[in-house]
Amino acid sequence: MTQPATNSRASNSDTILDYDAIVIGAGVAGLYQLYKLRNIGMRVRVFEAGTGVGGTWYWNRYPGARFDSESYSYGYSFSQELLDEWDWSEHFASQPEILRYLQHVADKFDLVKDIQFSSEVQSAIYSDDTRSWEIRLQDGSRFRSRFLITGIGLLSQPTLPRIPGIDSFKGQSFHTSRWPHEPVSYTGKRVAVIGTGATGVQTIQEVCKDVGHLTVFQRRPNWCAPLHNSKIEPDEMREIRANYEEIFETCNQTAAGFLHTADKRSTFEVSEEERYEFWENLYASKGFGIWQGNFKDVLTSPKANEAMSEFVADKIRQRVDDPETAEKLIPKDHGFGTRRVPLETRYYESYNRDNVELIDIIETPIEKITPGGIVTADREFEFDLIIYATGFDAILGSYNKIDIAGVNGRRLKEQWSEELSTFLGIQINNFPNLFMILGPHALLGNNPRSIEFNVEWITDLIEHMTAQNMTRAEATTKAVAGWYQHVLEQGEGLLANQIDSWMTGVNSNLDGRQERIVARYSGTQSTFRKRCNEVVESGYAELNLM
Ligand code: NAP
Repeated sequence: MTQPATNSRASNSDTILDYDAIVIGAGVAGLYQLYKLRNIGMRVRVFEAGTGVGGTWYWNRYPGARFDSESYSYGYSFSQELLDEWDWSEHFASQPEILRYLQHVADKFDLVKDIQFSSEVQSAIYSDDTRSWEIRLQDGSRFRSRFLITGIGLLSQPTLPRIPGIDSFKGQSFHTSRWPHEPVSYTGKRVAVIGTGATGVQTIQEVCKDVGHLTVFQRRPNWCAPLHNSKIEPDEMREIRANYEEIFETCNQTAAGFLHTADKRSTFEVSEEERYEFWENLYASKGFGIWQGNFKDVLTSPKANEAMSEFVADKIRQRVDDPETAEKLIPKDHGFGTRRVPLETRYYESYNRDNVELIDIIETPIEKITPGGIVTADREFEFDLIIYATGFDAILGSYNKIDIAGVNGRRLKEQWSEELSTFLGIQINNFPNLFMILGPHALLGNNPRSIEFNVEWITDLIEHMTAQNMTRAEATTKAVAGWYQHVLEQGEGLLANQIDSWMTGVNSNLDGRQERIVARYSGTQSTFRKRCNEVVESGYAELNLM
């Protein structure tokens, strides 16, 4: 159901509005936001840079891309019909299946008619006179709406290494998140992968099966753990379907929305035998249990973390035939789980293959890329294909890419360069009527669970404003300052916040991003949701609503 925007109090504003709400991005977040706003009678337009829906799962088509969260914990929970009709084929579905799922959702709820594809948003400028946002696309077209909602992802702006000669390479080269839609043949070819984060690991273990020769250029290794993926048989899917309520309830109760949550015991509270039995079980279990379901102090106590790291280091030594290669694959500069744990399927065994070589580029740095390949401090390599699994301008990149201006032309980029602060990761002072889905200082984890919660919170607020004939919402500076303090407090003591990674905003490929920042909320889902619910219960007292 759609209806015209008639609830504006600001003078002249009704007539100039093209839409009640504009949503940027047609990924997991944008699709659900469109669905929810449409259901409350809003005129909504989604602008999407890609040619189809799916967001992360549209862009990341690299070989081996798949869920690291259990498929059935990652889908939408809002529609029983959708849950009833969709069968997942694997415990950790691959990208083509995930994309098919999101396309199915878009078709089922007739979402595509309100999405404009190939439409990259260039700027978003707020006007207090009309209490509205003017969105300008790259093709120059402009649209005005009361509300602006960003579902632009936290890992969507790829970054390439700054290596001399990178543009001179004459073979094929792709960043993993810009993998072509057409099949790329690497069978029998000489292939390089740069980067060994979650993406690099998935890529390496997949392409090594077919390439002629694979050279992995690793700067810092990560602590990887087995995914233990398997097919979901029809009987099992029936069982999963019957348990959906419980599955989502479990996700809602855990710290970060996964099916796994920390064990109540601490590492040295149990006997050594019990400890190793527990770790062996985790290592043999599916998914993120080993990261999220470990002893409660593994991610906070240096001593517990060291013991866990040593356990995983031994696993790596057992799995990699060549002891020298094994040592190179064991992180020495950070402990287990302090960076996002890549989940793997025979990743370590990839290095036992004759056609795979690991180059430690701390030992022998890459000096340049040439038309024929890569030159390091001591060797020259020839390649047909270079794969850049070098990560993203995380959390901030997708916001910095758009010229966003709030009250009195205040630039978001400038405001955040002075202090990165938000209210609940959703609102920002000086930027009325702008709502972020998983912006900075929002809770990350099993993101669809957070997305559903955030989208519903935003929708409830907009519905409340509409019912009250209100047309302007802005978090107070006090609320923003309070949330900032809370975010800092929640992050204290967490080892991950003392390590360079995308989670702490460090990216060697970008100027000015060498220092760690607090970019995400490290508290639990229950703390986050409680706070969000309090805001609603207080009648949105921490927002200036008018
Ligand atoms: P990432 O974790 O940031 O890893 C980037 C890799 O590239 C690192 O190994 C990094 O080395 C290396 N690198 C960057 N610049 C380099 C340079 N100039 N020279 C050499 N090496 C360089 O990025 P990602 O692997 O794409 O993963 C990002 C996040 O996406 C993950 O943590 C995860 O949250 C998400 N993800 C999810 C899934 C899933 O759910 N299935 C799959 C993939 C990714 P250093 O460590 O030395 O910086």
